[in-house]
Amino acid sequence: MTATTPQIRLDASDPYAPLLRQAAAHASGYLGTVNARRVGPTQADVDALVNLGGVLQGDGENPAEVLDLLHRFGSPATMAVMGGRFFGGVIGGSLPVTVAAHWIADAWDQNACLYELSPVSAFLEDIVLSWLIDLFNLPADCGGALVVGTQMADITALTAARHALLAKAGWDVDNDGLFGAPPINVVVGEEVHATMLKALALIGLGRKRIITAPVDGQGRMRAAALPKLSGPTIVCAQLGNVNTGCCDPIAEICDAARGSGAWVHVDGAFGLWASTAPERRHLTAGLELADSWATDGHKWLNTPQDCGIAIVRDRIALRNAMAVSGTYYGEPAARDPMRWCPDSSRRARAIELWAALRSLGRRGIGDQVERTCRLARRFAEGLAKAGHEILNDVVLNQVLVAFGPGDITDQVIKAIQDDGVCWCGGTTWHGRRAMRISVSSWATTEADVDMSLDAFDRAYRQCGGNR
Ligand SMILES: *Cc1c(COP(=O)(O)O)cnc(C)c1O
Repeated sequence: MTATTPQIRLDASDPYAPLLRQAAAHASGYLGTVNARRVGPTQADVDALVNLGGVLQGDGENPAEVLDLLHRFGSPATMAVMGGRFFGGVIGGSLPVTVAAHWIADAWDQNACLYELSPVSAFLEDIVLSWLIDLFNLPADCGGALVVGTQMADITALTAARHALLAKAGWDVDNDGLFGAPPINVVVGEEVHATMLKALALIGLGRKRIITAPVDGQGRMRAAALPKLSGPTIVCAQLGNVNTGCCDPIAEICDAARGSGAWVHVDGAFGLWASTAPERRHLTAGLELADSWATDGHKWLNTPQDCGIAIVRDRIALRNAMAVSGTYYGEPAARDPMRWCPDSSRRARAIELWAALRSLGRRGIGDQVERTCRLARRFAEGLAKAGHEILNDVVLNQVLVAFGPGDITDQVIKAIQDDGVCWCGGTTWHGRRAMRISVSSWATTEADVDMSLDAFDRAYRQCGGNR
């Protein structure tokens, strides 16, 4: 008998194609009109979600009908973040190429845990991490991981910090745990993001035992007022305050921490991206002096949710903290993503990240940051001209505005949300109620800003304002 090559059975039928065509029609219909619809859903649209609920039936339904149902009742109850006039948080719309790349990634359905199980996912992860390290001008031999979001990137980086600091103190945290371990001091700024406190709590460093460093009027940590650091210490700095957009002085903080052996971690969810825009880069000066960094693609880079990025200077500390079994000291031939992050099975989020970075290039990324910062300034100027009080220095893409006393400001915010032309949320800044405007989407234009300014004016008058 002669050896034969086993034949792969070719079958012309493709059970995916009709559903994908249907999904593409619904998705295109949604995206093609998203700029014309109201930004926040109506209460009626939200109430109609009951049509997607009920008791799980014994018999399944036709997949095509399931998709139609999802579009019919799901699409209207979305927040229209994919248009140009959602300003209610640092949530960018997704770049068209990233949405399309995501579709391809869904078709691939790769488990990006091991190189062997998905060479393309592991390779792209390796590439995007090296591009990002280079883009942010960080040391080339940093280690990195792609995770759910910045909060998880904080957890990832802080776990590496915990490992390294305790190893230096003669304690093996991965095997012996935290009970009885030398204490780790943690310093955060008064304006620390809530998710950082959760990250610290989750990894056993506690919310209440942390030391809070004072900040200036914009929310920047005052490096000169940092407590005296000694013993195993993590200092959590921040780039991009969610209210003011201000950035902690990383160079000064690293300077103060140097000598004490403290580990400086930078939560740069969106602020880290300021380093890619020549006109904003000064806000991130000294970035490369820190020990770890957390950011994400889904805010300012405008990749789809969810796309967290952790980068750690001491790659071996990250590798050991994330080891699946036992301590690891060498370098693998190929990078297995799961050996660098908390997850095991995971989606290949490097794909959309790769598509965004490759299609924008360095200049495109910086331009996207700069353009949105200028649009934030346009908002601030328009509002100030209308007689409203801007509460922050508009250094980045965040604007805080008060329309008078707190209850009036809250009424105006509600009227703006009901109006639907744009969507902004409320916040409290230094005891005052304010409206927060975050400009984070590639899709936002000057016309969108001007339309929104008109909407603010309408809402203000409706609430009895007459400036
Ligand atoms: C958004 C944000 C986070 C949390 O990021 P996720 O991606 O939602 O986990 C952390 N810190 C800052 C400063 C942020 O703006």
